[in-house]
Amino acid sequence: MKTLMLKADEVQTAADIIKNGGLVAMPTETVYGLAADALNGKAVEKIFRAKGRPMDNPLIVHISDISQIYNLVAVFPEKAKKLAEKFWPGALTIILPKSDIIPDEVSAGLDTVAVRFPSNPIAHRLIELSSPLAAPSANLSGSPSPTNAKHVADDMNGRIDAIIDGGECDVGVESTVITLATEPPRLLRPGGITLEQLRDTIGEVVVDNAVLNPLKNGQKASSPGMKYKHYSPKADVILIKGSDDSFVEYVNQHKADGVAALCYDEDLGRLDVPTVSVGRGDDYETQAHRLFTALRTADENGYRTVYAHCPKTEGVGLAVYNRIIRAAGFEVIDLE
Ligand code: AMP
Ligand code: MG
Repeated sequence: MKTLMLKADEVQTAADIIKNGGLVAMPTETVYGLAADALNGKAVEKIFRAKGRPMDNPLIVHISDISQIYNLVAVFPEKAKKLAEKFWPGALTIILPKSDIIPDEVSAGLDTVAVRFPSNPIAHRLIELSSPLAAPSANLSGSPSPTNAKHVADDMNGRIDAIIDGGECDVGVESTVITLATEPPRLLRPGGITLEQLRDTIGEVVVDNAVLNPLKNGQKASSPGMKYKHYSPKADVILIKGSDDSFVEYVNQHKADGVAALCYDEDLGRLDVPTVSVGRGDDYETQAHRLFTALRTADENGYRTVYAHCPKTEGVGLAVYNRIIRAAGFEVIDLE
């Protein structure tokens, strides 16, 4: 299949592809999404094939107006309304009991559906011109999520109908996912909207154990995506916990061919190995913005082992930590 490269002013062409049951990669403020008509099960099935995504991993439905959610969910409780009013459009996905019009392909057979109202104007326009869109990240399953159109093309060229080039994504990591289908509300994936912001808005929110830790043998995932390998570059990523000095010292002691560091600006100049910085140690937004490009750069440069400076887990740092620890397959060296 030939993949069309579309510009930001060619959204109508993309909408026609969606209405005909095709697949379009679209920019959102979080990462690029691979979109199909959410109400067309056959079209949605193609997403799983194009990505190599396990069929039991459900998709987020994207809307362009809060009122659209009433068709998609069975109930829209007060706490969900509060969150929607405060954070939509934006990087928050809310899980609720689903309505009957959600195809099984979208919910992967669960009785819930994940909904998000993105703020990116191109995504917004595409939904307006077509339909609510089911869209996971537009990468091959398992690899780092795409934050620009080139990343999408590297993974998806020849596998999908079109890619809309909307430049770099603002946030750079996927949306925050919270489920309100259970009480108390539960954070399933940290993202651009922080745990602190959620708690300020609706009170108690528990953090699912799998956000920070590997699933134990036999433990059921609250979100099917938690079971799978994620965000992995080809290089072996190892997370280093410890002080700034101990990180630098450890990496320098392990200097070898193919060894590099995923680090902070403050570490640059102190490390004797090739470096990819994600920003300052206290600038979590910049780290989120740069993380997936940094992981892809590590592969382009042919690094085989990447020691990553462990992020702090406050604010958006929690989202950065959650992605890096998965990129590392939970391989951690604790120097503390
Ligand atoms: P992606 O779109 O690839 O960034 O992944 C969306 C994430 O949301 C995955 O981890 C899914 O497993 C999760 N998800 C989507 N729908 C549901 C749902 N109904 N219940 C629980 N988790 C969900
Ligand atoms: Mg994904």
